[in-house]
Amino acid sequence: MKSGESMGFWRELGEEALQLIYPENLYCMGCGDFLDNEATVSEWGLCGRCMEKLFSKEQLKKTMEKECVGKNYQRVLSCTTYGGLSKEIIGKFKNNSQPWLGKNIGRLMAERFREEYFRGEVRGTEAWNTQTTCAETVGDEFSHGESSRGAKALGRVDFVAFVPVHKHKKRLRGYDQAQLLAKQVAACLGVPCLDCLMRTRMTAAMKNMSKEQRRFNVEGAFAWKEPMDCDGEKVSDLRGKRILLIDDVVTTGSTADACARILRGQGAAEVILITFAAAVQGN
Ligand SMILES: [Zn+2]
Repeated sequence: MKSGESMGFWRELGEEALQLIYPENLYCMGCGDFLDNEATVSEWGLCGRCMEKLFSKEQLKKTMEKECVGKNYQRVLSCTTYGGLSKEIIGKFKNNSQPWLGKNIGRLMAERFREEYFRGEVRGTEAWNTQTTCAETVGDEFSHGESSRGAKALGRVDFVAFVPVHKHKKRLRGYDQAQLLAKQVAACLGVPCLDCLMRTRMTAAMKNMSKEQRRFNVEGAFAWKEPMDCDGEKVSDLRGKRILLIDDVVTTGSTADACARILRGQGAAEVILITFAAAVQGN
């Protein structure tokens, strides 16, 4: 066993042990309340109150104000606005060694995509309370743009990619949060998850930076690498492909844009950015 493999083995063992201590979706990932199936929507790992707070129609509408003008991605979709509860959830997922939260967040992101592209409408929490599961959409629906339920705006989706963290950060945290989200979204939509981008240098935290500073900060910070799918199989190329790019939060979009530029440079026909949260003004 190579050292890298053994690291992975111990890490997985560690994750399993953690899951025994914190069983998935027994407690709401928002408020921490115990989830019982009748009164809540525990499928998403959230109680009804937190669902309401996060995914109201108003919240969704605010996220839709994000512009793509001048960007290398053509669409941006987010589940909710960034702040309060969504900020707490992302914080737990990224900084508190709770990688399994990525499954819930990824499922929610896949549902957001499905809602927009599959049903072609935005309905907010009401629709999200329906008991749709990932298994339901695994298959050909998304990858071939056809559907028994009457797809409206759906096109062919070829790959899910993600905005990677730097390898040092990944080693520290034990996982790449966007990669975990991407794997879950890909599994839900039944398309391959692609590992094709790398961060070539650490970038400064962008919290208080202007739009222009952010763009400068990420310039040249990403590079293309030989694409592999989740099974470690090489993927030929991206020419003419439609890519879903995954990140946890979008602010000015400069980071995602730097990644999308690389994907477009490799011939991708369309890049759709999906994030869990969108930082919008006045929130
Ligand atoms: Zn809750």
